[in-house]
Amino acid sequence: MIKYKCTLCSKEYKRDEVKYLCPDCSKDYKPGIPLKGVLEAVFNYEFIKKKFDKSNPDWNLFSAVEPEYFPKYPVGNTPFFKIDNYGKEFGFDNIWIKNDGLNPSGSLKDRASFLVVAEANRIKEKNIVTASTGNAASALAAVCASDNKKAIIFVPESAPKAKLVQMYLYGAEVIKVKGTYDDAFRLSLEYTDKNPGLNRNTAYHPLTIEGKKTVGLEIFAQNNFKAPDVILIPVGDGVIISGVFKAFYDLKMSGLIEKLPRLVCVQAEKSNAIHNFIQTGVYKNADNPKTVADSISVSVPSNAYMAKRAVEESKGFSITVSDEEILTAQKLLASKTGIFSEPSSSAAAAALEKLKSSELLDKKEQIVLLITGNGLKDIESVKDF
Ligand SMILES: *Cc1c(COP(=O)(O)O)cnc(C)c1O
Ligand SMILES: [Zn+2]
Repeated sequence: MIKYKCTLCSKEYKRDEVKYLCPDCSKDYKPGIPLKGVLEAVFNYEFIKKKFDKSNPDWNLFSAVEPEYFPKYPVGNTPFFKIDNYGKEFGFDNIWIKNDGLNPSGSLKDRASFLVVAEANRIKEKNIVTASTGNAASALAAVCASDNKKAIIFVPESAPKAKLVQMYLYGAEVIKVKGTYDDAFRLSLEYTDKNPGLNRNTAYHPLTIEGKKTVGLEIFAQNNFKAPDVILIPVGDGVIISGVFKAFYDLKMSGLIEKLPRLVCVQAEKSNAIHNFIQTGVYKNADNPKTVADSISVSVPSNAYMAKRAVEESKGFSITVSDEEILTAQKLLASKTGIFSEPSSSAAAAALEKLKSSELLDKKEQIVLLITGNGLKDIESVKDF
């Protein structure tokens, strides 16, 4: 059974003592700044060390919610494989892809929604609320549909059409916000203050990080129980990168790896608050986070502090890419590998090209591109074809 630990003040809480943020650290939180007092699940690593057996791995040892509560809706177990053509374009020998665009609703967000719905089963809650740029909402709507739950969604009206279509078809209650994702985030918190229902906002609910963690555990398992050298990760709110970090942190604490993979934070040039924070050490909201990569378009990244820690403790780094670089990479990746990734994920591919002459990456090391979302979710953004 897990405990929670505050990532800011390190205070520990019993599992059912807290629901969202650390009560102490979140006292002066208000929307418009990154979340304060995000909670991290703490496992009994000595127990995992004793029980985990590589020849018959029980991944539920790393799960913050017991499997009896899991929705019967398979997510994850997406392909992990080496690609030759794309990396060779830029002189890289050992490029791998984790294709999470093949999740049931088409993005990595299914993993977080799956675990939050499991938690809703555990605490017997029927309504789940979220703010989203589009994918978290379509994922939540999908998992809720499979498990007799109601998804209540706050989403910018400008979200790509396919993502909106998904939410409606899965039967969610959709509240279209005339504004940005940051406005939707604020409205969903106001709603949760006054109404029943579990809030799944990214990082606000600690199990979103734990859910996203499973992609890192799978990479480790599919890579013959080894950590790769580098993982390139598209970053918006900073929860995927924190989840991947948590996976390898848990593996290290359990004695299964010695060294963490270097995590590379890839952001869009204008939606660069976390990048900026890592570079300067001073946090500032992104003023006008306009980018073709809607899934990573955010002014106030919820999980800025943990994301920065993930990059620094893994000895990784951060980089930004322009919309033009993203769309060029999207096309090249598709034509060289057969993988059509949505713009946010194409940002990771764009970063690889941008780093071709950099000393930050070695041409021979094992580098993973994390493909977080399926390109069919946003065909409007594809320009030249
Ligand atoms: C949400 C999302 C991201 C960014 O994840 P964060 O946790 O917000 O950093 C990247 N790609 C896709 C497809 C997403 O849906
Ligand atoms: Zn705290």
